[in-house]
Amino acid sequence: MDYQQLIEEVYQEVQAENLKGKVADYIPEIGNVNPDQFGIALVDLKGNVYGVGDHQKPFSIQSISKVHTLTMVFNVFNSKLWSRVNVEPSGDPFNSIAQLEYEKGIPRNPFINAGALVITDALCSKFEHPINEITDFINELAGATCVKINPEVQISEKNHGERNTALAYFLKSFKNFNNPIDEVLDVYFSHCAMEMSCVDLAKSFSFLANDGYSIFADRLVLTESQSRRVNALMLTCGFYDEAGEFAFKVGLPGKSGVGGGVAAVMPHKFSIAVWSPELNEKGNSVKAIRALELLTDKLAFSLF
Ligand code: GLN
Repeated sequence: MDYQQLIEEVYQEVQAENLKGKVADYIPEIGNVNPDQFGIALVDLKGNVYGVGDHQKPFSIQSISKVHTLTMVFNVFNSKLWSRVNVEPSGDPFNSIAQLEYEKGIPRNPFINAGALVITDALCSKFEHPINEITDFINELAGATCVKINPEVQISEKNHGERNTALAYFLKSFKNFNNPIDEVLDVYFSHCAMEMSCVDLAKSFSFLANDGYSIFADRLVLTESQSRRVNALMLTCGFYDEAGEFAFKVGLPGKSGVGGGVAAVMPHKFSIAVWSPELNEKGNSVKAIRALELLTDKLAFSLF
């Protein structure tokens, strides 16, 4: 399979469709990007990198970082984690508070904001400087010092963080939150404000295509069983209330962010990151989803 030719074809076809969406503006600083940018990077399990378009340009990875933080916590707390966060799709928007009340403060999954806040709280219990640990970990996975936190995005999100603050207080009222709320929110906003290129992001997801072994870090990051479980969570919960549609159209485990990025894996073959800032009404990148749909159509295989 000529991956370079494949992603170039996908890129051209998506560009020709002239799809439109809306850049996220609820975090004002994220709205300050050129909406026309579009890049794809694919990394195979030998470490070969294929790229097209804006694949080397860093962008705000936002909720894609929830996969990295889950991986860190999974390793440290293992099965104890699942008493604090469930593994069911929510069918609700990423920032919804609705289910948290009748689920008694146990978020439906680690990828909605409520669940990711619990994960960040667990990281704050474990590490004295959690944000350094997170950036070091992702740099290691990508095999390069590539992660930068954009301070303007971090502050912008903090200044408009009413929803996430409300979720944190609600979790605390159910005693599912152990550290000071401001401290955890700062770490959460910082990891959402990390910037990476498609190339580095795809490299940092490579271990999930490789039974937990990162060829860039040259070590086992998760056991094979843990790696399969993170992939199962991405498939069922990675796109919030659009997870079913992503599985239907694309058929790969993946995770989106409101910066317009999507990272996905084809187990035992490759990891891929696609970025384009314009989003659909569910908060997922219009062009990235279409590109991945075309990609698995052309490959004639997916997880299924
Ligand atoms: N930082 C964003 C938020 O908490 C992340 C959301 C996303 O990427 N879906 O609202």
